[in-house]
Amino acid sequence: QPLVFSGMQPTNTLHLGNYLGALKNWVKLQDKMPCIYCVVDMHAITAVGYGKPEELRTAVREVAAAYIAAGVDPSRSVLFAQSAVPAHAELAWIFNCVARLGWADRMTQFKEKAGKHKERASVGLYTYPMLMAADILVYKATHVPVGEDQKQHLELTRDVAQKFNNDFNVPDFFPLTEPVIMGAGTRVMSLRDGSKKMSKSDDSDMSRINLTDDADAVAQKIRKARTDPNPLPEDEKGLEGRPEADNLINIFAALSDTSKAEVVARFAGQQFSGFKNELADLAVAKIAPIATRMRELLTDPVELDRILKDGAEKAAAIAAPVIAEAKKIVGFSH
Ligand code: ATP
Ligand code: MG
Repeated sequence: QPLVFSGMQPTNTLHLGNYLGALKNWVKLQDKMPCIYCVVDMHAITAVGYGKPEELRTAVREVAAAYIAAGVDPSRSVLFAQSAVPAHAELAWIFNCVARLGWADRMTQFKEKAGKHKERASVGLYTYPMLMAADILVYKATHVPVGEDQKQHLELTRDVAQKFNNDFNVPDFFPLTEPVIMGAGTRVMSLRDGSKKMSKSDDSDMSRINLTDDADAVAQKIRKARTDPNPLPEDEKGLEGRPEADNLINIFAALSDTSKAEVVARFAGQQFSGFKNELADLAVAKIAPIATRMRELLTDPVELDRILKDGAEKAAAIAAPVIAEAKKIVGFSH
């Protein structure tokens, strides 16, 4: 049966890329299929979330609040924290043994996040994609709405499912999950560097628009966003070789639910200053209501914890027969 699963790391507050690339689509999918939305705190400790227990606890609530504020409805969708459902970790171990070292070695996210000193990265960061495969497959999820940066991890998820099904001769036990990458905002770039994606873990706060930024901060970040010295192009082709301009046009298109072509046509040949003012107004109009709602939700952490606990119970109940069967298939039956 069709089932949606997706998650975000509580590494920092969510940003415009998370919203346009994933969260916005999560909300829409609730009308089409059952959905499970997770705050993936076990992924968060693979890198920047490690060693800060209080911050992690707070960030989990913030991310849960952001989901709800953006329109995830906990009475329809399952909303929970990853670490509250041990089946993720159990299946991840099995998948660590299914996946080959060569597969993990190809993952570009590991290379980007580990940087120059690979030997100093955590082992968890390296095996992250196997945990992600477990997150999805422990529910036998069929659809995973994510941004473009997660495409490679989803291919690995399919490879793991297929190899498990083959190796243990259990055809169709795990489904071959489809990535759902839709809309104009599937790859929002940093405001400081058009070749890097907007990220929670980027050191520079000026590189991203946080969902919690106030109107002044949003306006300032957009005004200072890097651009080249030329005016806006006359047509979409004129965006070639201009990654920063392309990114701002793309953000405008995604926020206004139109196409890049339409946005280019509207601002053809104009200076960036005027365009940036309009973009800032548009961004504020879209994210300010989410931030307001988020703040309201965060005034009641007890209620958020209750929602997460309730979601964890539902998630565990869905995962239970799958992990039990997977363990039996592997030979863990004593
Ligand atoms: P981190 O830097 O900690 O990895 P992140 O910003 O990449 O943070 P994640 O929690 O890893 O956020 O990803 C959450 C979701 O947001 C994923 O579906 C991911 O594909 C999507 N996403 C992340 N960054 C972008 C972006 N710049 N544009 C579009 N979607 C994005
Ligand atoms: Mg990421």
